[in-house]
Amino acid sequence: MAFALLFGSRKLTKKKSEITKAAHVQVSDGIQETLENIREIRATYQEDRFLKALNDKIDYHESTMLKGELATGIFVNGASVIMRLGVATTILTGAKLILSGQIDFMQLFMFLLVITRVYAPFDQALALIAEMFMSQISASRLMEIYDTKTAEGKESFAPQGHDIVFDNASFSYDEQEVLHGVSFTAREGEVTALVGPSGSGKSTCARLAARLWDISNGTIKVGGIDISSIDPETLLTDYAMVFQDVVLFDDTVMENIRLGKHGATDEEVKAAAEAANCGEFVSKLPQGYDTPIGENGAKLSGGERQRISIARALLKNAPIVLLDEATASLDVENETKVQEALSRLLTGKTVLVIAHRMRTVEAADKIIVLADGRVAEEGSPDELLADEGSIFRRMTQLQAASAGWSI
Ligand code: ADP
Repeated sequence: MAFALLFGSRKLTKKKSEITKAAHVQVSDGIQETLENIREIRATYQEDRFLKALNDKIDYHESTMLKGELATGIFVNGASVIMRLGVATTILTGAKLILSGQIDFMQLFMFLLVITRVYAPFDQALALIAEMFMSQISASRLMEIYDTKTAEGKESFAPQGHDIVFDNASFSYDEQEVLHGVSFTAREGEVTALVGPSGSGKSTCARLAARLWDISNGTIKVGGIDISSIDPETLLTDYAMVFQDVVLFDDTVMENIRLGKHGATDEEVKAAAEAANCGEFVSKLPQGYDTPIGENGAKLSGGERQRISIARALLKNAPIVLLDEATASLDVENETKVQEALSRLLTGKTVLVIAHRMRTVEAADKIIVLADGRVAEEGSPDELLADEGSIFRRMTQLQAASAGWSI
């Protein structure tokens, strides 16, 4: 009966444990998010709000833990009590048998001795079974990692040129489809600009072009080869990415740039840095190229960090460049320098750019306007501007009327 109770309660304790685990993950994610964004939180006076949200998560975790422990405690101890009732029943029955003269006291004593010995391992088994249920939940979470499909493919990649062709590509994050049958071509030697309102799928397209995820339908080809058949690491050797969230390491300027090309000489690194307009600010740093730049480049400005990532890309000299422009934190002087650095990087490459600046959009060879995960318009800037009813023309006019350009 005790074991039946324990197994019967399994569903409930499992559910409670799952809730507790989920609350635990929320707390660790919350702490990580707060630590990662501490500067922005301080700068925007959001400390109280973030701390309150974190405290709420901790309180919720505490209450789920209490409830979980209570449920487990009640059932495990309940099962244990039922087992011990067996001993009590034996004593009562034994006493009755002594009174009726069927057994003597020594017989009952021996019987009790044996029975308590037999019960001890059962008692332990109860506790262990309860622990086993708990471990099963952790194990099933681990199995999810094993079940996650990893991207695989051939380790040789010999494309015919580097045109990127999206053919009816659809993609979902979790259940939600965010790209619906997207088709376009980004040609080698041209700059293809992805524009469209926030959330229309520009970043997703750029990341899919490098197989950071696999699409659910359609194909993406580079130089005629379906990228889903190529090993991601092999594929990435042909890509340079300059995204908004530049990742820099707590190392020197030199080493941060050298990440672009394994084994590059100091001279190569410096040449790339000069071409990316890093030379001037690096010469003002106390130890020049050997100056540590702090965690994620904390000692550098936004424009400087971006130029370091452009230098990395220049050093890599890959045939495909994926670029996410950022207007934030760049003053006019910085913007011009970043722009100069970029034009050196982009020459002759297949360039797919998530465009935010009017200059880039105007200079692009082709514009792809995305809306709600679909290609709404496609053409050269002049063609799209000439079309009176185009979204692009309307966005350009809106931009011209407002102070900051952001599309
Ligand atoms: P854009 O770059 O044009 O602003 P995105 O490609 O970032 O658009 O986003 C397209 C859609 O996908 C949006 O609805 C966005 O909410 C969703 N999305 C983006 N990244 C994720 C993610 N990591 N998980 C779930 N949904 C996401």
